[in-house]
Amino acid sequence: MTVDIGSPAVRGQILRAGDPGYEDARALFNGMIDRRPAMLVRVSDAADVAEALRFAREHGLEVSVRGGGHGVAGRALGGDLVIDLSALRAVTVDPDSRTAVVQGGATWGEVDHATQAHGLAVPGGRITHTGVAGLTLGGGEGWLSVKHGLACDNLLAVELVTADGRILRVDDDIEPELMWALRGGGGNFGVVVSFTFRLHPVGPMVYGGMIGYRVSDAQAVLELLDRLYAQGSEDFGAAAVSMHAPPAPFVPADLVGQHILAVVPTWFGDVEAGAQALAPLREEVEPLIDGVGPLPYVALQAMLDPGQPPGLRNRWGAGFAEKLTPELIAAAQEPLPGQLAHLIILPLPEAVRRLPELPGAFPSRMGGRWLVHPVATWADPAEDEQNRAWVARMNAAVKSTGTYLNVEAPDDDRVRWAMGETRYRRLQKVKATWDPDDVFRHCAHISPGDGS
Ligand SMILES: Cc1cc2nc3c(=O)[nH]c(=O)nc-3n(C[C@H](O)[C@H](O)[C@H](O)COP(=O)(O)OP(=O)(O)OC[C@H]3O[C@@H](n4cnc5c(N)ncnc54)[C@H](O)[C@@H]3O)c2cc1C
Repeated sequence: MTVDIGSPAVRGQILRAGDPGYEDARALFNGMIDRRPAMLVRVSDAADVAEALRFAREHGLEVSVRGGGHGVAGRALGGDLVIDLSALRAVTVDPDSRTAVVQGGATWGEVDHATQAHGLAVPGGRITHTGVAGLTLGGGEGWLSVKHGLACDNLLAVELVTADGRILRVDDDIEPELMWALRGGGGNFGVVVSFTFRLHPVGPMVYGGMIGYRVSDAQAVLELLDRLYAQGSEDFGAAAVSMHAPPAPFVPADLVGQHILAVVPTWFGDVEAGAQALAPLREEVEPLIDGVGPLPYVALQAMLDPGQPPGLRNRWGAGFAEKLTPELIAAAQEPLPGQLAHLIILPLPEAVRRLPELPGAFPSRMGGRWLVHPVATWADPAEDEQNRAWVARMNAAVKSTGTYLNVEAPDDDRVRWAMGETRYRRLQKVKATWDPDDVFRHCAHISPGDGS
């Protein structure tokens, strides 16, 4: 028999098993996550969040927080009571101050749509349906990072509901240590109801797209990318992707579904200069596929969407490599475990590697030159093992000294390792100050501590 514990007094919607909408509300991007929380509270404002936290405390319920629902670990649904921000998606742009206030359940497609109406943008995810919240709190690396760093480097302030239900504005003047932790320390410190970002003039037309090569040319292509990066232009970015050629208009029919090494180059300066700067990609190694040219920034941001449909099974990995080792080249050539699986090899730009203007807890800038990111996505549970094994093999090929926690399902030890001891202990002190009872534990978790 279930005991009726009542409901929090919120203005938003409460969903329990059996309610219409409950099944949709508990669906996450990663279709492997099948959790049935007792209650989802679809909050309508900061006061609802505070009330949901009070109710959870009163009834001893574990809490988790859902932004865009794209964390592959599925921690958004880890609690008995889920604080679901998906109804809070407004994006308000102030073109004069070049800032945007983005609510905690918004997606990157919504941010790009609103900011590009003013010719502005902030670095964000490469798939439009990814949530702003989890991505930013854990770092946030996107195409625009070559020029403007991580999403968290552009975070100026948040409206935060703390574990004890206080509603605060946090910025570098008010609670600077907490602000430091929010730039990369994940969902450990409270519920972010809105983010204030600094924006930058971008586009609306940029230069880029997708160009594809034979996998046997992997070494030549990756070395070429390395050389192009070494030229040091902040307008140039690129990712190499070992993948199956997509059914895109620029892909010849006989190549669709074939294993290729794609490069997604981007150029954020003058479009004609972009054509010149990217010419070596056409001239130095013979491409099989060429879909590079001028395109709107929002089209670039949506370009990879068809390859990442929500609801499939996902296992991802990440690591940093300092050099293009033979193992890494071989990894880029290894057959993929399924049609949608892909291996991203991304030279990390200086704008990401150097210390940002606004200090933050994000650790991975201390990693190597290349971010290596295996993404296994498949439909059939019978293929779980082959996909897991491939991700493990790709991770092993990197011999990494760090990881990008946002794309993993890290346990506490892995979080500590990725953060490094000094940063981890500093984060523990912030956690002990703002969440001493560890209410926000369903995340890339930092346990409260005194810093010793
Ligand atoms: C298709 C896809 C593409 C991606 N592309 C990129 C990319 O280009 N660059 C990149 O850097 N990363 C990328 N990622 C990884 C991404 O950064 C993480 O998956 C991130 O967690 C997504 O945030 P979310 O709000 O959608 O996730 P959720 O699953 O909703 O949240 C993840 C965690 O964040 C915390 N959280 C969420 N909302 C809040 C909130 N409002 N307040 C406090 N804590 C909160 C919680 O701890 C939660 O468990 C991608 C992921 C996917 C699935």
